[in-house]
Amino acid sequence: KNGREFPISLDSSAVRDENGRKFALVGIARDITERKRHEEELIQAREGADAANRAKSRFLANMSHEIRTPMNGVLGMLQLLLETDLTAEQQEYADVAKNSGWTLLALIDDILDLSKIEAHKITLENLEFNPRQTVEDVVGLLHVQADPKGLALRSHVAAEIPPLLRGDERRLRQVLTNLVGNAIKFTAQGEVAVYASLESQDGTKSTLKFAITDTGIGLPPGQETQLFSPFVQADVSTTRKYGGSGLGLAICKQLVELMGGTIGIESRQDQGSTFWFTVPLDPAAPAERPDQKKDERKPAPDAISRPIAAKARSSVRALATGESKGHILVAEDNATNRLVAVAQLRKLGYRATAVNNGAEALEAVQQTHYDLVLMDCQMPLMDGFEASRRIRAIQPNLTIIAVTADAMPDDQDRCLREGMNGYLAKPVAIHQLREVLAKWLPASVPTGNLVVQ
Ligand code: ADP
Repeated sequence: KNGREFPISLDSSAVRDENGRKFALVGIARDITERKRHEEELIQAREGADAANRAKSRFLANMSHEIRTPMNGVLGMLQLLLETDLTAEQQEYADVAKNSGWTLLALIDDILDLSKIEAHKITLENLEFNPRQTVEDVVGLLHVQADPKGLALRSHVAAEIPPLLRGDERRLRQVLTNLVGNAIKFTAQGEVAVYASLESQDGTKSTLKFAITDTGIGLPPGQETQLFSPFVQADVSTTRKYGGSGLGLAICKQLVELMGGTIGIESRQDQGSTFWFTVPLDPAAPAERPDQKKDERKPAPDAISRPIAAKARSSVRALATGESKGHILVAEDNATNRLVAVAQLRKLGYRATAVNNGAEALEAVQQTHYDLVLMDCQMPLMDGFEASRRIRAIQPNLTIIAVTADAMPDDQDRCLREGMNGYLAKPVAIHQLREVLAKWLPASVPTGNLVVQ
């Protein structure tokens, strides 16, 4: 009546006369202004929560970046210290410090992983792989943990699983490693087994089901669903007794769902658990023969997998001075990390020169011949991206490897976009450095005396 417009909900029905003919309409119109307002509020609240969650994830990513930088110094220096002549006692202390460092780093990696998934920063790969091989690799690696406990560790891969499928093998491996690792961790005696079967197959997709069973402590009833939330452990004494952060299963769930699968648990307290998950995978391209394809499988461009605790062991022999495998320029603004990089390169038998920022790097490559540049990304005066662009313009063929604490995929892409050839995430373990250098500088070129600045 007053001309105001408002939303209504209208129910109406026909009214019929005695002969069944419709002659009128009865309707009830409800003013739903209030309801609409509530809906709007809910939408806003959800958007606010999403934004807060993204901000949290970004914050975690930034924090882990900040933490990785000093960790590079700590771990690099410990590695170098361990290469020197130490007494047995000193060696033991330094070993413990180093192992703790890598454990801390593995935790930071987990937090980063979770925040990347939550910030929708993870893109899945779709490459061909052999699922049987994946299971065998994971089981093979985890024998190191199962054998000392006297646990049997076995795997069974159903014969009908196609030998070659397409999907994100790295993520699948990550989930399997996590679940099998947990099974070993929470089992004192008996066995851990991994079963892979073909759950279903429709025209295009093969859905695989993986089940990891153990004869371990099991779970109290009612715990199953909660465990997939971040930072949740079955009972508070778990952390004290077994260690761990409660992030592993949360990451597994997110990754499995991202890949289009589901994850679940069946467990009885004190009798063991079965953790299972499914993953739909694409068929392999028909023309390729499996044996050919396997070797061609290529990892993401030089995205050197971030170090994990178990991989940390590497023993490096210093080469005799006087001959080097190549001259490397290190551009890095952090003094400790400069020292670490130069010392690592020297251990690996390279000649190394370090500068403090991108501008100095640009100048250095114009004055001296370098075989390769290790380029930090964030530096004062001129950052690594700009320096790389400018170096590219004058020396298109010089190999530039980004070395950075930014471990988000975007950052890796950016390095490659800006003309760098590869990417190393900090902290850089000496074996990773060795792999990258061996890849880019395959021939040993004697280039005179070892110079370390
Ligand atoms: P973490 O192992 O680092 O604590 P997870 O997210 O991997 O974190 O696991 C969360 C919790 O789930 C563990 O603390 C443990 O209580 C329980 N759990 C996981 N795997 C098993 C298993 N195989 N048997 C019994 N309990 C398990």
